[in-house]
Amino acid sequence: MHTALHCALCGLPHDIQKLQNVCTSCGKPLLASYDLARLRADGWTPEVVRRRTERSLWRFREVLPLEEGQTPVTLGEGQTPLLKCARRGGAAKFARLYVKDEAANPTASFKARGMTAAITRAAALGVKEVALPSAGNAGGAAAMYASAAGMQCHVYMPDDTPAANIVECRVAGVDVQLIRGLINDCGKLVREGCEKHGWFDLSTLKEPFRVEGKKTMGYELAFDLTDAEGLSAGKLRLPDCIIYPAGGGTGLIGMWKAFDEMQQLGWIGSERPKMVLVQAAGCAPIVTAYEAGKEFAELFPNASTVASGLRVPVAVGDFLMIRAVRQSGGTCMTISDADLLDGVRELAAEQGLFVCPEGGAAWKAARLLRQRGWLHEDDSVVVFNTGSGLKYTHLFGTEAQG
Ligand SMILES: *Cc1c(COP(=O)(O)O)cnc(C)c1O
Ligand SMILES: [Zn+2]
Repeated sequence: MHTALHCALCGLPHDIQKLQNVCTSCGKPLLASYDLARLRADGWTPEVVRRRTERSLWRFREVLPLEEGQTPVTLGEGQTPLLKCARRGGAAKFARLYVKDEAANPTASFKARGMTAAITRAAALGVKEVALPSAGNAGGAAAMYASAAGMQCHVYMPDDTPAANIVECRVAGVDVQLIRGLINDCGKLVREGCEKHGWFDLSTLKEPFRVEGKKTMGYELAFDLTDAEGLSAGKLRLPDCIIYPAGGGTGLIGMWKAFDEMQQLGWIGSERPKMVLVQAAGCAPIVTAYEAGKEFAELFPNASTVASGLRVPVAVGDFLMIRAVRQSGGTCMTISDADLLDGVRELAAEQGLFVCPEGGAAWKAARLLRQRGWLHEDDSVVVFNTGSGLKYTHLFGTEAQG
């Protein structure tokens, strides 16, 4: 059970038994903490988790926002496969390359992980109506989890968001507002709506629990890799490198937090994977700030990319992403739209995975880092495929015509 909420920048504590958005003093994200020392003393080990039969990320419920006796709002998210790539094509130069395939989630992207946690917590605190901006998949996931919880939901999306994402929300019967602008413009309208109508703002990292749901990717990876490499099950092992396509950065920040928690639980040591943050060349605020040696990012002008999940020109968690990358000894890189679409085709043709464009970008980054000698043949490398390619068929006009 969660015990406290603190601002990730200034450290100010906030009451976890009340609805919270950002820090009331500095406006930065709030992060939850747990009594990990007590969980450790009580014998909460990887074996206990392995023995559980439930097929969702709620098998990690001790480090998730769940009230005593509460049933989570779940659609069976998490426990996605870690797939080992065959040594052919672009993957031939890697001995231990894996794809964590988040397409297997409900609503076909890893946004489901965040929403199961956020909606579960909002339900516990009596929320009836939520709202959020979405560049694509967050809207559909929020719509479905709100429906599962019996809540009303308002989704604000750029008017050129992929049709699959818009249709998904409309099918769920939620209020969809298409806005001429980007996700940050949508975010402003959501804030106004929340103030006016009393909706709860579910914007990522402006709500403390989506990151908690997404952090379970870090926990799962340790179990997955230990199993995939036939290691002894008592001690968990993390990969040498994780390659992550970042928009708001919630998954990357969440995994970094999970590793810290796992160390405090005694499940891993102080070793960490190198975190590689990938953005589209047409929208790369974090890469720009990282390369300039800055702590915070500036709004990326004229943001444009077909990888809609990466079309986030400004992110409230910017400093947390940059910190994690630096502390891990990782790096940041950009991939052009042409290259990331090429990456989608490669993974489909060579590995049998129809990944989303964001996943195509992560894969292309892995290839480039290997070519440059930054990654070695024997490194264990995990590429994140954050969603299904089937939501993006509009990007494959050539293939559509046959
Ligand atoms: C939202 C999204 C991302 C970016 O995720 P963050 O954790 O917010 O950085 C990447 N890929 C897809 C498919 C997404 O929907
Ligand atoms: Zn603060």
